[in-house]
Amino acid sequence: MSDISDPIELTPSSDGSRRFLFEDADIRGEIVHLDSAYQEIIAIHQYPLAVSRLLGEFLAAAVLLCANLKFEGTLILQVRSEGEIPLLMVECDHQLRLRGIASGAEHATSDNNNELLRSGQLAITIDPAHGQRYQGIVPLEQGSLSNSLDGYFKRSEQLNTRVWLAADGEQAAGLLLQQLPALITPDEDQRAQQWEHVYSMAATVTDPELYQLESEQLLYQLYHKDRVRLFEPASVSFNCSCSRERTHRALSTLNPDDIEELLQEQGSITMDCDFCNQHYQFSRSDLANVLGANKAKILH
Ligand SMILES: [Zn+2]
Repeated sequence: MSDISDPIELTPSSDGSRRFLFEDADIRGEIVHLDSAYQEIIAIHQYPLAVSRLLGEFLAAAVLLCANLKFEGTLILQVRSEGEIPLLMVECDHQLRLRGIASGAEHATSDNNNELLRSGQLAITIDPAHGQRYQGIVPLEQGSLSNSLDGYFKRSEQLNTRVWLAADGEQAAGLLLQQLPALITPDEDQRAQQWEHVYSMAATVTDPELYQLESEQLLYQLYHKDRVRLFEPASVSFNCSCSRERTHRALSTLNPDDIEELLQEQGSITMDCDFCNQHYQFSRSDLANVLGANKAKILH
């Protein structure tokens, strides 16, 4: 924990998410910076820059939303669109392990988000390790994720929440502000004024400032007249949740006749993970249990 009025010590930028609190207002914030995790994810596919930038914004947003989860689980942001990115999907778990993909977007030519994700629908899914899955769906307004998230929060939370996102193909960053239940400031007018002040300062941040400035620098630039408590960063990493076992389970749900056909054609079955490019190869003996089910079916 440090005070932003302390002398600023520059450290090399790294993947992390930092929470901050206003000492004299019921407002919390979160800042995320991604570089190597972001670069690893976009290096798996040959995306055009506009797609990489958009994917970076989604990755930063997933971390911002996940950093406040109070339970073990995964948060998924997914857009299906009629534009040049038919499917964009990012996932972040409670340990801030990230993965993401812009499926079918390798040959996108537009640099306009609205074109890339034309008529997109954003699904926000919270998938707890234990308990009920929750999904909210909002239209993707003008291809802008931050606008859509603002709309989502307006509908689902009583507390004001705003998100800013930026990415340049090498770095991605995000800033979230959220009102907390009235505790420090019970007076409604004063509470509204505090939110207006904090929000309007954040609205002055440019995209390059968002991804280039360290958290301390950014907070100092915006709120050096306010008392802000900044917490230690939580590290964020690229980590794919795929495994040989999960892939095998997915294969087991296929029709055994189709598996038999593939084996006869190719000798073995290779499954690729689009998120991390891992290849999983299964021989006939690896799939004996699946094919065994087929035999039983034929006998009956
Ligand atoms: Zn994978």
